[in-house]
Amino acid sequence: MLSKTPVIDGHNDLAWEIRDVHGAKVESLDLAADTRPLQTDIPRLRKGRVGAQFWSVWVPADTTGPRAVEMTLEQIDIVHRFVAANPAALERATSAADIRRIEKAGRIASLIGVEGGHQIDGRLSVLRQYRALGVGYMTLTHGKSLNWADSSTDAPRANGLTDFGRAVVADMNRIGMIVDVSHVSDATMRAVLAAARAPVMASHSSARALTDAPRDIPDDLLAAIGANGGIVMVNFYPAFVSTAWRPGMPTGPPSPRLQACPRTSMARVRLRRSSPGTGTIPNRVSPPRPLRIMSSISRGWLAGIMSASAAIMTASTAPGRRG
Ligand SMILES: [Zn+2]
Repeated sequence: MLSKTPVIDGHNDLAWEIRDVHGAKVESLDLAADTRPLQTDIPRLRKGRVGAQFWSVWVPADTTGPRAVEMTLEQIDIVHRFVAANPAALERATSAADIRRIEKAGRIASLIGVEGGHQIDGRLSVLRQYRALGVGYMTLTHGKSLNWADSSTDAPRANGLTDFGRAVVADMNRIGMIVDVSHVSDATMRAVLAAARAPVMASHSSARALTDAPRDIPDDLLAAIGANGGIVMVNFYPAFVSTAWRPGMPTGPPSPRLQACPRTSMARVRLRRSSPGTGTIPNRVSPPRPLRIMSSISRGWLAGIMSASAAIMTASTAPGRRG
């Protein structure tokens, strides 16, 4: 089934790892070879049947102002460079049509996600220029609240979304950028769903009914995202899938994330592959994983997930949407 409907992974931190571990020297890392201890390379993407990958261009939430913009541009440059360095396997994509064409050609469609509204430094012009550079989504916050949107892991500053926050959502809808609600507070998620004119996405979030972590999404909001036509991509990070997990127990419990699926079926849920930057992932979901997916989820359900993901890409990047 995955050969017919390849995985679209919503979040991968390889670009940050290249900056952090390899001094941003893209040429020092051969993605066609085994890159362990990094969690991503082309052979493993192929083995995991990844047809499209959103590469995160995250910068830390405590990096603010023009420096956050500058660092984001550097991260985008890293993605552009490693995609260009691997033309047989990777190709840049900015639309659903690109993804379909690139998958058909046997390559991995490469998209970009900005992981935090701090990275636009309060300027819609910067947001629009990110789109021009190929960015497909922006997560509204990372781990810290902004003066226009709140993080789930910080004290609120906006109590949902301010007028500027709503302007960000409207402009993202207008220019075809997916609004990513991972990391944001429940109040901000509610405000986004009220303001959005296109389906939203949670690029890497799990179910709070199963694991009571602030980064996870409660059932009522999972249902609301489903009603919005949106999508939730499940995050395997141990702290978000197990209250029993503690640092120092890196193997974690048996993949409880997969148990989340029936409970969250009102929203469209996709599986997020592992990526460098998560630090630790449960052993039971270490790649290769297609067989585990197949044994864990019924075929029809997974097909529904995959077609939903194609649908949201179409809806969210369709030209002509005006906010
Ligand atoms: Zn994140």
